[in-house]
Amino acid sequence: MKILVLNAGSSSLKYRLFKDLKELVSGQIEHIGEDSGVKNHYEALLQVEKELTFRGQMSFKELDAIGHRVVHGGEKFTEPVKINDNVIEAIKEVSSLAPLHNPANLQGILMMRKLLPNIPQVVVFDTAFHQTMEPEAYLYAIPYELYEKYGIRRYGFHGTSHAFVAKKASKLLNKPLKNLNLITIHLGNGASVCAIKEGKSIETSMGFTPLEGLVMGTRSGDTDPEIPLFLQKVGLNADTVLNKQSGLKGICGQNDMREVEKLALKGDEKAKLAIKIFVHRIKKYIGAYSALLGRVDAVIFTAGIGEHSLLIRSLVCDGLEPMGMILEQERNKKNETFISTDNSMVKLMVIPTNEELEIAHQTEMALRDD
Ligand code: ADP
Repeated sequence: MKILVLNAGSSSLKYRLFKDLKELVSGQIEHIGEDSGVKNHYEALLQVEKELTFRGQMSFKELDAIGHRVVHGGEKFTEPVKINDNVIEAIKEVSSLAPLHNPANLQGILMMRKLLPNIPQVVVFDTAFHQTMEPEAYLYAIPYELYEKYGIRRYGFHGTSHAFVAKKASKLLNKPLKNLNLITIHLGNGASVCAIKEGKSIETSMGFTPLEGLVMGTRSGDTDPEIPLFLQKVGLNADTVLNKQSGLKGICGQNDMREVEKLALKGDEKAKLAIKIFVHRIKKYIGAYSALLGRVDAVIFTAGIGEHSLLIRSLVCDGLEPMGMILEQERNKKNETFISTDNSMVKLMVIPTNEELEIAHQTEMALRDD
């Protein structure tokens, strides 16, 4: 089966083509709508088709299905769905919850439908995996009516990634997912942790928006909820400060962990501090989620930083030995899949994520169930 996975952002369009779940080609069109000659998402898709043909692959008409990433599915979507007019309406309805992402994702869907009306298309939501959370995990202690009226609750994001690495872990540990309790730590530009009990997400660090939780490249993660109000009072734009000027960048001026590590190695005090804050926050969540899970079978590191930074993994695991999480430094240095000692009660693992492959897989499943 040939599946094209699309991730449409406001000014970019990423694509990856799979045949029988093997990746054939990938790429991205950037600067859509800017002075780039690619005026809109429709033109961007035409460009994708050119690239697919040019690189010796195939034309759009040969595709069997298209899988779209959509950031926010609200409470409506707990699994991938085949696109129809009702689904499009429902995505529009939850757009107010993700005003930067959903309208762009939707553009990709609408344009692809226009271009290829007869090829089945499926949407996979970043929020869907977390819809198994219980109310005590997803509700904030604010007036209940605000949840009912505006949908203010924890949704969680990166669901496709947490689900993907959890499934991989189940294979690697040779245990059914429904018998596993996991803490999955996704550390990319955005970062989040998920507590997975018996294969289901029971808690995650991102909340109503992707701002909550861990320290990220430019996002603050958890702060005192009064801080945005205070920032507004002193004339700053809280949204800009907390989403774009905070996180690693806010502390040391760099949002890319590779650069932060380089600076820290040279002795830069702010970079060292940024790493300390980043690590401290992750540890807090490992502790909290261990308490929620009771028994933890494995802690999994994934995404750019989780997959590649020996330093961050080593600092995160330092001191967790009494919790049965014992890092083996040599394995960590070699980026092995299992980086814990043989006698570590909790397995420590590095599993590369692949959200696009998971979307292709889920697209296939959604069409099979049809
Ligand atoms: P995105 O969330 O954009 O998909 P990625 O998962 O690619 O991001 O992660 C990007 C982050 O991973 C950046 O902070 C980058 O510096 C970091 N990263 C990638 N490789 C390394 C490495 N070898 N050491 C430390 N950090 C790394």
